[in-house]
Amino acid sequence: MRDEDKTKEQLIEEIVALRRQTAALEARCSAFELSDREPFLSILQDNNTSITQKQGATTEALFNLNERLLADATRLAKAGETLRVAKDQLESVLAAVPGMVSWISADLHYLGVNDHLAELFGLSPDEFIGKDIGFLGAGSDFNNFVEDFFKSPVRDRFGEIVSSIDGTSRHYLIVAQKYNRDRAAFIVGIDITKRQQTLAVLQRLATFDGLTQIANRRCFDETLEREWRRMMREEEPLSLILCDIDRFKTYNDTYGHQAGDDCLQKVAAAMAEAAQRPGDLVARYGGEEFALILPSTPSYGAVTVAKNIRKSLKGLKIPHEQSRTGYVTVSFGISSLIPTIRSSFTGLLESADRALYQAKQEGRDRIVVSSGLKPG
Ligand code: GH3
Ligand code: MG
Ligand code: MG
Repeated sequence: MRDEDKTKEQLIEEIVALRRQTAALEARCSAFELSDREPFLSILQDNNTSITQKQGATTEALFNLNERLLADATRLAKAGETLRVAKDQLESVLAAVPGMVSWISADLHYLGVNDHLAELFGLSPDEFIGKDIGFLGAGSDFNNFVEDFFKSPVRDRFGEIVSSIDGTSRHYLIVAQKYNRDRAAFIVGIDITKRQQTLAVLQRLATFDGLTQIANRRCFDETLEREWRRMMREEEPLSLILCDIDRFKTYNDTYGHQAGDDCLQKVAAAMAEAAQRPGDLVARYGGEEFALILPSTPSYGAVTVAKNIRKSLKGLKIPHEQSRTGYVTVSFGISSLIPTIRSSFTGLLESADRALYQAKQEGRDRIVVSSGLKPG
């Protein structure tokens, strides 16, 4: 092996051995006469040369080793710095996420949480580590979500859950991602309570009539189509009542538009009161026209509902001096059938409308049941 390829330790060992050998030779040399020393002197000279060479090689090997160590130390320092920056970045991302972040092991224990989540429950992040995910008592939605996620083979999943925080229900959008060969998951929860509330308000605005607080025409159209299909599947009768306040133009002319609005509210409330079975829908169909959708109800059931509305209006006795009765009355057109593929809900609407027209023609304040549907 060349000296350059030997390790520092090997070279030092060899130098020590050579020195020992030299010392032994020098000791033996002093015991001889000068003339006898010649052969030893040449060996000693060779040894000295070898020691000098080896010392040179050792110095070079040490120098190389030093260089390598320096390079390694620089690389390590750089790697350490990179790690520190990555950790800083991760921590600032976790702090910036406007939601709850947690790391959870597959056996459903917390590995860590961000400050936001800890603060929400008045705890420090350390207090979560190693605890069962149910220890907060925030409802079972979150636990079920995480448990199902670990049971499933998917690596990421999102969903909506409801959690109870400080006694109030809050809605969260949950995004989960497995890591560490599926032995843990990174879970982010974003509070969408406000969005859910806004959505509910928007949904109400889109389906309810602002004045009367009952369903609007759009909701009526959607419900009629849906119930039509459902009744066709179930082979059950579907009834439709169209109603129109009698002589409402003169009511407005006599009592004013504001009184007209109040009257519409009272009539709507009376109608809503009369149809309360699950599936029933009372809607404002137009200005002073209302419609009731009554699923699984034959025509005689619809007549009963209409009669109840009449009775309640008679009880309310909203004054209307231009009306024959002296109070506000309503005319009703009723149409019923068991939907089939040969009939259509527009046909049901048309026949109810014809029955209503007939009620008006016959003197108002009455109920007319359609005699039958025209085909189509
Ligand atoms: P009929 O007995 O034939 O139904 O007579 P009518 O006067 O009720 O019918 P018409 O269609 O001539 O008039 C309907 C009136 O309903 C017109 C309008 O003044 C009134 N109306 C419609 N929508 C509203 C509303 O939102 N508020 C008020 N105050 N009045 C309304
Ligand atoms: Mg009308
Ligand atoms: Mg009218």
